[in-house]
Amino acid sequence: MRKILKYFIKKVPNIPFIDHYSSGVGTIFMMHRVDNIDKQGLSNIENLKISPRYLEKIINKLIKMDYDFISLNEIEERLNQKNKRKFIVFTLDDGYKDNYTMAYPIFKKYNIPFTIYITSSFPNKTASLWWYSISKLILKEDVITTVDNINIKVNSREKKEEAFRLLKKKILTFDIKNIEEEICNYLPSYSFDFKQKCKELCMSWEELKKISEDPLVTIGGHTINHPSLNKLSKEEIVTEVMENKKELEEKLSVKVDVFSYPFGGEDTVGEREFRIIDKLGFKNSTTTRTGNIFLIHKSYLSSLPRIALTENYELTKKMFMNPLLINKGKRITLK
Ligand SMILES: [Zn+2]
Repeated sequence: MRKILKYFIKKVPNIPFIDHYSSGVGTIFMMHRVDNIDKQGLSNIENLKISPRYLEKIINKLIKMDYDFISLNEIEERLNQKNKRKFIVFTLDDGYKDNYTMAYPIFKKYNIPFTIYITSSFPNKTASLWWYSISKLILKEDVITTVDNINIKVNSREKKEEAFRLLKKKILTFDIKNIEEEICNYLPSYSFDFKQKCKELCMSWEELKKISEDPLVTIGGHTINHPSLNKLSKEEIVTEVMENKKELEEKLSVKVDVFSYPFGGEDTVGEREFRIIDKLGFKNSTTTRTGNIFLIHKSYLSSLPRIALTENYELTKKMFMNPLLINKGKRITLK
């Protein structure tokens, strides 16, 4: 289905006045990692990245298209103005080290503000980047056996990709606090080093401190442990969100007043979570649902849509210039 959609998006021509309308007043772009793509890697893992070359390419295209680059803190003001210029906001989720080593020098070169949403367990180096462990296992083996003696064949590229999706779906049902134990119980024949990737890929507090001192950078909240919020009680959500905010503010001496929902799709956050977050005093909060920003979003600052930057510029351009195709004509307001 996704392939058909991508093909359709690629083939439909841009119609300038429709593009102008459907691209709204601006776009918040979502990224996770900025690093070179590993062609041998699984697509689910590699799709978290865009390459530094691509990031520069899109920045140059956007400059030519005469977009304003603004900070996430300026969105509300923009939505209350009659400013006809369209804006772009760049955001990066989680706190990967390459945000500091790869993305930061590029944004600095072009003097473009950006936001990094930090999950505390990343700089604390306690995060389980289990998706890397699972990907490593799938790439290495030909068959994976689960605790119920189900054999998952992973002896071709296609089967490896499919197995990753299958295992990811299963793992996302596990309790985040015991996720390592639950993965080991589910796949008892294998050993995992969950923390190794965290050491390698997560930004440290020192790096975060340095980057947060730059006025171009906004630090946003992204919970302590990156749970699916709809699985938690109201009290647990408030703890995850406010403890993360407190830790970031204390360690980095910055004010944290923007937030991004972990996972952020329809299957993990909804109206209950938006209402809870709305009362916690953030200026705005972003989801991972696809859409541009329209003036109507000044009433929905706790559930703003974003557009994921993909490595394919034509697709990205279609995504944010012509989201009518993706939203079926609806402006995403996430009521
Ligand atoms: Zn995240």
